Amino acid sequence: MSDAFSISTQQNEPLELTADVLVIGGGPAGTWAAWSAASKGARVVLADKGYCGASGATAPSGVGVWYVQPDPEERAKAKASREALGGFLADHSWMDRVLDQTYENVAHLAQWGYPFPTNERGEQVRRGMQGPEYMKIMRKVVKQAGVKILDHSPALELLLDFDGVVAGAAGVQRQENRPWSVKAGAVVIATGGCAFLSKALGTNVLTGDGGLMAAEAGGEMSGMEFSNAYSLAPAFSSVTKSAYYSWASFTYEDGRVIEGAGSQRGRSIIAKTLLTQPVFCQLDKADDETQVWMRKGQPNFFLPFDRAGINPFTDRFPVTMRLEGTVRGTGGIRIADTTCATTAPGLYAAGDAATRELICGGFTGGGSHNAAWAISSGYWAGGGAAAYALSLGEKAHNRRLRGAGRAALRPAGAGFDTAEIVRGVQSEVTPYDKNLFRTEAGLRSSLVELNGLWRAVQGRPESASTTEGVIQARQAAAMVATARWMYASAHVRTETRGMHKRVDHPAQSPEQQYRLLSGGLDTVWVKPDPTSVAAPAPKETVSR
Ligand SMILES: Cc1cc2nc3c(=O)[nH]c(=O)nc-3n(C[C@H](O)[C@H](O)[C@H](O)COP(=O)(O)OP(=O)(O)OC[C@H]3O[C@@H](n4cnc5c(N)ncnc54)[C@H](O)[C@@H]3O)c2cc1C
Repeated sequence: MSDAFSISTQQNEPLELTADVLVIGGGPAGTWAAWSAASKGARVVLADKGYCGASGATAPSGVGVWYVQPDPEERAKAKASREALGGFLADHSWMDRVLDQTYENVAHLAQWGYPFPTNERGEQVRRGMQGPEYMKIMRKVVKQAGVKILDHSPALELLLDFDGVVAGAAGVQRQENRPWSVKAGAVVIATGGCAFLSKALGTNVLTGDGGLMAAEAGGEMSGMEFSNAYSLAPAFSSVTKSAYYSWASFTYEDGRVIEGAGSQRGRSIIAKTLLTQPVFCQLDKADDETQVWMRKGQPNFFLPFDRAGINPFTDRFPVTMRLEGTVRGTGGIRIADTTCATTAPGLYAAGDAATRELICGGFTGGGSHNAAWAISSGYWAGGGAAAYALSLGEKAHNRRLRGAGRAALRPAGAGFDTAEIVRGVQSEVTPYDKNLFRTEAGLRSSLVELNGLWRAVQGRPESASTTEGVIQARQAAAMVATARWMYASAHVRTETRGMHKRVDHPAQSPEQQYRLLSGGLDTVWVKPDPTSVAAPAPKETVSR
């Protein structure tokens, strides 16, 4: 490799590998990608920031999957149910592909031994998985397929050849304190979404790194205005599992019911109330039978209550709404074709790192689209990357490479304090009155702050003398980049659609029924996606 990051402080000898396909991220999307690529004969390396199988949003949760029998009526119903919620931005051909591929891949999971429960007719019910069990199987299957896994090895940047084609990535092995680099024919980004270190369950590793790496290599984003997912959680816990709040009553401190508050459509009312006072909750609508089923279905939902000595069915407890950003939003790296290639040559994207608008428009909510997308897009991205890499032959490994990373990696200015950057970005994206209830003036003012933070992260992190310090500084830069694409897109979308709410434009505007692309680093741009429904000729809006 030609140039290491200039702030590298690692002591140990670098680990240098070659592969046909490098997968970055080892959640559902990354493991399906790795398995798919290996099954097509590619040599695969998978690098995860944490421990593949225990890291990311699915690993500690239970996920519902958009799994629908191949019955035309059932499928039509499944597709129709989300159209209006998603603001009519989804694409039917992608929905069909995802439903087919998910159905097929979940059958593999059953063959590999996932213990799906059975119904009264003895048939397996395959509409959801427990995260720990699911990811344990995925790790085993990937290893059996010959994939080399690098655990605790965050990627920090992509490597490009001198034609600007993506040809690998570099990062650090945090436990060995040593740099790693993988020269590869193609790279799949499956680094999950960005939850801005909000402490929501499973999101501590989800800082938008993949989006930043992709943008530095020429990738584009899509749907970044649909990035303001907040989930209900007990105020004293990180467990953001919202499904069970359908059985809840929401009350003020004095016990009066909050009219209109609810876990589905009434979430805005909860957020508005939380702006001025605490909100209390009780799962009092669940009967005895439902309570037993709930405990069995999601045991980890109850852990924080049990620890605090609270019975959520009979006791009132305080709730909050934690930001999950693009994790349960729908925006991410733009997908350019059916193989999940991005607009950067040699680079593929899958799972929450990629846009999910193609199957659910501007809103996922429940409904399990993200899990189905992770399975299917992972499978296609791995297959696409393998075909591309194998077509390059030996040339893939004889290229001279350079690192594409800049912000927080190759300093060009004064020092910055990473913790201050994180606090700065959180104070723009966390408050409900900035991110959930958006206005022209609020977005403008946040963009001014965020642009200032972006200029700051071009400098040298004060924490650059340690491996962890470099990782955290780079995460902070990725969060700033993500927030800028989010708010620049939200500023351009002067209407309310999907999860994007403009207080100053409360109605959906028929003229804006198209997807928005965005990108850029020092200068952020936003323009309509010419391939989406009714898009006008792309006209770019820029923000510096
Ligand atoms: C609490 C919770 C419950 C959810 N429940 C559902 C549900 O029921 N149904 C549904 O459809 N969706 C659900 N989701 C959405 C969920 O995020 C996706 O379904 C799924 O996890 C996406 O898979 P992924 O592989 O893209 O991302 P993740 O599972 O988040 O995995 C990303 C991986 O990338 C790694 N990574 C990150 N950055 C780097 C880097 N720089 N270098 C290397 N590795 C990196 C992480 O360590 C992690 O292992 C839920 C999300 C949360 C937070």
